[in-house]
Amino acid sequence: MSVLIDGKGFAATLRARVAGHVSGLGVVPGLAVVLVGDDPASAVYVRNKGIQTREAGMNSFEHRLPADTSESALLGLIHRLNADPAVHGILVQLPLPAHLNADLVINAIDPAKDVDGFHILNVGRLGTGQKAMVPCTPLGCLMLLRDRLGSLAGLDAVVIGRSNIVGKPMAQLLLAESCTVTIAHSRTRNLPDVCRRADILVAAVGRPEMVKADWIKPGATVIDVGINRITRDGKSRLVGDVDFAGAAQIAGAITPVPGGVGPMTIACLLANTLTACCRAHHLPEPEGLTA
Ligand code: NDP
Repeated sequence: MSVLIDGKGFAATLRARVAGHVSGLGVVPGLAVVLVGDDPASAVYVRNKGIQTREAGMNSFEHRLPADTSESALLGLIHRLNADPAVHGILVQLPLPAHLNADLVINAIDPAKDVDGFHILNVGRLGTGQKAMVPCTPLGCLMLLRDRLGSLAGLDAVVIGRSNIVGKPMAQLLLAESCTVTIAHSRTRNLPDVCRRADILVAAVGRPEMVKADWIKPGATVIDVGINRITRDGKSRLVGDVDFAGAAQIAGAITPVPGGVGPMTIACLLANTLTACCRAHHLPEPEGLTA
């Protein structure tokens, strides 16, 4: 039976570390979250982000805009937040309504305040090994991997999924750790064989329990990013992209869903906001909060 990677516990420790640094900083970090429309899942995420931001001793500025907000109105808000010295981090909750160009909006954020790490400049910096704001979910996965394995150098890593928010930045981070990285996706041939090579397997697909036990190399470290709501035995529940019960018999260590990667995402958002605040005020950056 595998070791369970306790993302929930790790995230609580990380949030406490962030709060400890914030209390002695001499300036209050501020995170602005912009929600356009009334998607219920996004509203829950935004509420949780606000609660955890305040619990860490930071200011939370929430901007809820109607679904029919124009692009120019949204860009106007972002320009105001860019210019506001009390705001160190800006996050635009995705997805945006279809009439808004997400790339245009994200790239309007000051890259120094881009705590999601989605601005094209931060993407380029990450890809070229420069100091970047790193996307929160892959950063959280990296922290869990480092904590579990120490050095990742030379390990074979397979990332299933090539999205801009998880798969690609995850692969970049693993490459920077000197892993040998394979990115798999929906057109990958012989996916089970590809996965069986992995010392580190990261699943970021969005397909419930797709990765089966016999896809996993014995002893591998499995990071399950997927969050999928299913109904089983008449009950609604969350499952990952990995068939947890089977995989836990084979893997060396594995993240559960829920309680694995999920809680790391907001904890890393707080860490990124603290990092952005330290950089804005030329304060020393606490160690271990970024890649
Ligand atoms: P996307 O839908 O943007 O990307 C999914 C990726 O999976 C694509 O690259 C797609 O390939 C690939 N894929 C789809 N089907 C298959 C298949 N049958 N075999 C191999 N690859 C496949 O999703 P995200 O990256 O945004 O999210 C992935 C999962 O992670 C979701 O469950 C999401 O809810 C979860 N998530 C969790 C977070 C957390 O905080 N824990 C944060 C963000 C996401 P292709 O490119 O070829 O289409």
